[in-house]
Amino acid sequence: MDINFYSLGAAEEVTGSKHVIEIDGKSYLVDCGAFQGSRSEADRKNRNFGIAADRIEAVVLTHGHHDHCGLLPLLTKQGYQGNIYATPATRDISNLIMMDSANIQARDAVYLRKQAAKKGETFTWTPLYDEKDAITATNQIVGISYKRPVFIGDGVSLEFYDAGHILGSAMAFITVKKQGKETRILCSGDLGRKGKPIIRDPEQVPAPDYIVLESTYGDRLHERPEDALEKLAEIARRTVQTKGKILIPAFAIERTQELVYYFHLMVDQGIIPEIPIYVDSPMATNATTIFQVHPECYDETIHEAFIKHHKNPFGFNALHFTTSVGESKALNEHPGPLIIISADGMCEAGRIQHHLIHHIEDPNTTILTVGYMAEHTLGRRIRNKETEVKIHGQWFKRKAQVEEIHAFSAHADYAEAAAWLGSLDRSRLKQILLVHGEPKAQRAFKGYLREQGYADTEIVQYGKTYAMSE
Ligand SMILES: [Zn+2]
Repeated sequence: MDINFYSLGAAEEVTGSKHVIEIDGKSYLVDCGAFQGSRSEADRKNRNFGIAADRIEAVVLTHGHHDHCGLLPLLTKQGYQGNIYATPATRDISNLIMMDSANIQARDAVYLRKQAAKKGETFTWTPLYDEKDAITATNQIVGISYKRPVFIGDGVSLEFYDAGHILGSAMAFITVKKQGKETRILCSGDLGRKGKPIIRDPEQVPAPDYIVLESTYGDRLHERPEDALEKLAEIARRTVQTKGKILIPAFAIERTQELVYYFHLMVDQGIIPEIPIYVDSPMATNATTIFQVHPECYDETIHEAFIKHHKNPFGFNALHFTTSVGESKALNEHPGPLIIISADGMCEAGRIQHHLIHHIEDPNTTILTVGYMAEHTLGRRIRNKETEVKIHGQWFKRKAQVEEIHAFSAHADYAEAAAWLGSLDRSRLKQILLVHGEPKAQRAFKGYLREQGYADTEIVQYGKTYAMSE
């Protein structure tokens, strides 16, 4: 039996997850994510997989984030006809993500063509794939629930365990049984955290031989998820008093639903008065529908608080979903108190911008950031509490209050990841391979894990193959 592991994406970086487990010459691809970055670099990395589609035996998808599923339509377009295994919720979320990506690419192509025409240049860029390819990819996804092992190849079985990262997220536990020998490989996908609302905590798994582990926050510690509640309540109460507004740029998937869930919970428990909430992003609205149809992914708390009482955690009187741009713009004139949750994009694009234009000079408005804001983005400038910011080419005085909650991260920090590792049976463990992290975070994490007794921990590098059999 010959098993080798190598990476085609997310080695010493945090995007474009693509890992290959080669078992007796047959290739199993774990995740097929898009590389996100500048257009030229992303294009170069995304158009070339590094493996021919017809060499792949099966694809395993850990969760529906773009950097894990975003290139599946290109893979099927290039001729991959086999199965893509994922949990049912991941199938739905990745469909939404892939269709959205196809749409964005089509729009980009129109825009770039116009720009090129203006400059008299020839236009050569084409989208990686279109909606049709995204539908083909979705059609190849075979839904497997958590803890329902299936054979995905000769002597190769796959079982999903909860990763606690986003709805449907899973760790892939791959068991290879051949010639009387058994090798167990655990791919963490993105490892989540204990105590996140809605979804379950990262699960315990049977004793693995090898762990392919993400390391995004290998050098950081987060606030506790529970800390988010307290701060949200404080901001909500203040906003009710001043009849102001809360603007929250938030990821459409998971973060928006967590916010809705927390607000609903706090209103239900009498912690805050009822405030109208508007989810102002078509993507977030669609994602919330997906959350509603996957109660099999919910944790105990949501059952206790809502399901047991026949309540829909993502639907209550005060919650509204805007559809048209007109409805979105009408919110500007709507009196407070009011909460607007709009698509993130680090405030650089989308509906959040016109909300900012209308409210950033109002001291009764609170702009609450709950996610990563890259340098040189409007979101970062606001988070840094700059007193003047430029939106749509116009300068505005920032009088709105700015608040920040760090507790929403979907990735385990180094202590959380180590605590989860510590809960596993390590009697068979031979090696931990670190992927999906910046080099600095990975080096720190490797050092920390070695201190914890995981002597054989390696940082996966491109072009290197790691043997998983003697
Ligand atoms: Zn993820």
